[in-house]
Amino acid sequence: MNKMIYLDHAATTQILPEVLEAMMPYQEEYFGNPSTIYEFGEKSREAIENARQMIARTIHAREEEIFFTSGGTESDNWALKEAANLYGRTHPGLHGHILTSPIEHHAIINTCEELKFMGCGITYLPVDNTGLILLGKVEECIQDNTCLMSVMFANNEIGTMEPVEELARISRKNQLIFHTDAVQAYGHVPIDVRKMGIDMLSASAHKFGGPKGVGFLYIKKEINLPSFIQGGAQESNRRAGTENVPGIVGMGKAAELAHRRMGEENRRVKRMRDRLVYRIIREIPGAKYMGNVKKRLSNNANFCFNGIVGESAAILLDTQGICVSSGSACSTGQTEVSHVLKAVGVPQELALGALRFTLGAENTMEEIDYTVDKLKVVVEDMRRKGTS
Ligand code: PLP
Repeated sequence: MNKMIYLDHAATTQILPEVLEAMMPYQEEYFGNPSTIYEFGEKSREAIENARQMIARTIHAREEEIFFTSGGTESDNWALKEAANLYGRTHPGLHGHILTSPIEHHAIINTCEELKFMGCGITYLPVDNTGLILLGKVEECIQDNTCLMSVMFANNEIGTMEPVEELARISRKNQLIFHTDAVQAYGHVPIDVRKMGIDMLSASAHKFGGPKGVGFLYIKKEINLPSFIQGGAQESNRRAGTENVPGIVGMGKAAELAHRRMGEENRRVKRMRDRLVYRIIREIPGAKYMGNVKKRLSNNANFCFNGIVGESAAILLDTQGICVSSGSACSTGQTEVSHVLKAVGVPQELALGALRFTLGAENTMEEIDYTVDKLKVVVEDMRRKGTS
């Protein structure tokens, strides 16, 4: 196959042509600063508000509850650090306590570790071997100073979808703010913040056909979350800095398209994912399917292959034009396995052989079959040679 086969949509997605087209006038023609008072700036202001309206509609929020950021990482940092700050402001001299999961993205985990360093308490809620939070154990982890629960909507490695509605209900009952990192879910699964009881939600445009470097944080009106970045009065005084107008316009367009196409796209992608999973299980011995079979994103498949190193397999697949992610990363000469696989109890040797396939709009059944054919050869070769 001459064409590159891209199976890493959880890492990022290709910008949609309609999105690029919508952004271009704001790159070239309408470059006015949205904070200016003349009519030219009004064009940019209007474009931002249209995007805000579109995004608010997709999650059943109010426009004034959507705040534009530089992406998922900033949204997560804002939600967690300022929820802890809010607790400190309302309880002078005391530190808050946060509940989260051990399978969160590093944008959450490393923020929690930083907060811990600053005196905040952190508890990682227990999960089962598919990554699902053990709901029955949540309430016993709540302390007097617990101020926030942050649990991801869907996991970026194993695709498991958490019981967000139930977790939000427990949070509400115990007067905790409930935040969800929906970076992998927004634009792929329907989300209704009102019905689900979500107080704050993070999303990122480049995961659903939009540009990189732009995202949003939904903050329920009743939550007085302090601003994270100080400066000018942009975003109703809550997020300072001149807005990334083309990026915001692109995200609005991508949100509209993703929600319009969601049903059909999910069915199409799921058919391909299911074939990939079926063929791997049938044709590659020693392949263990990770994550939850039922409660999972339609585009995600994650396998651990015994006797191989996922990172080396990903490099070999790359030489065949196939882009996938491995669950391990080589840092300072040592291969570190994924914290997610570790948290769901996968033994180190097996976790080393992890490969993640995340499908998207432009994939075809032919590409899936080609990938499995190549993967079979790569895994067999590596096992035979005992290479890692
Ligand atoms: N949260 C999750 C679950 C993610 O998968 C990612 C990116 O992979 C992020 C947060 C960070 O988002 P961004 O790349 O927009 O900073």
